[in-house]
Amino acid sequence: MWLRLMTQRSKVKLPKMDACIWTKNGGNILAKCLDRFNAVVPQAVIHRKIMIDDHSVDDTRSIGKMRRWEVYMNSGNGIADAANQALSMVSTDFFIALEQDILLAENWFSTVSNSIHADAKVASVQGIRYPSNSTLLAIYHDSDVEAHSIDNNIFRTEIIRKIGGFPKKCALCTDSWLKLNVEAAGYKWVIQPNVISTHVRSTVRNELKHKYWTAKTCQCGIRRLSTQGELHTLLLSPISGLRLARKFGDPMAIITYTTLQLILFSAWLTNPTLRE
Ligand SMILES: [Zn+2]
Repeated sequence: MWLRLMTQRSKVKLPKMDACIWTKNGGNILAKCLDRFNAVVPQAVIHRKIMIDDHSVDDTRSIGKMRRWEVYMNSGNGIADAANQALSMVSTDFFIALEQDILLAENWFSTVSNSIHADAKVASVQGIRYPSNSTLLAIYHDSDVEAHSIDNNIFRTEIIRKIGGFPKKCALCTDSWLKLNVEAAGYKWVIQPNVISTHVRSTVRNELKHKYWTAKTCQCGIRRLSTQGELHTLLLSPISGLRLARKFGDPMAIITYTTLQLILFSAWLTNPTLRE
């Protein structure tokens, strides 16, 4: 009788999982990110909170410690090394991956957790995230609905280990290579479009600089684009920008979208790994 009661109770209890975050100079946003995490994720399901910091020079590590995360220095460099270091410490069947500029949606844990428990072939479940800046929201809205990432996910530990962990092929494209490896091994990567977290972005100018830098720096060629496709997108960008400005009621979307396409085109011209 006692055993039966205990078994019944354990059936409704969610298994504990480790939570992992990788950080770098996130002092201006990390506290909000971790506080939102605490508000959204039932703390009873959390086993360990593991933070791998990539040699921050601000107060990132002390913010983590104050919020009772175990803080470790990245023994390598960049996201893939940090994520693999975190993965080596995970001792639960599932683990959460979070990044410092994400404010999780209220329905994030319930939806993402139910989804990964529902199918043993699912290696990763994530929600989507929209930029906090309204102009960036206008220009990214349609592509962000299907964008994969590793900043608001629950992963199935065994599968991620089995496929070799977080790929180090490109410092900028860890997420794309991981998804490719997951699917190539016959597993699933689920994106829940009804879970909308916030991607904290400071200014349009910073975002455009960041986009240029990432497009210029990528050396893996996972997102190769044809000349015809790039030219087509660039030439149509004022019209596409106007459509987005009308759709989202933000006139700045015209110039921002056009500038973004110009920036991406110039990066494409100077980076041969982007060209088909
Ligand atoms: Zn790349």
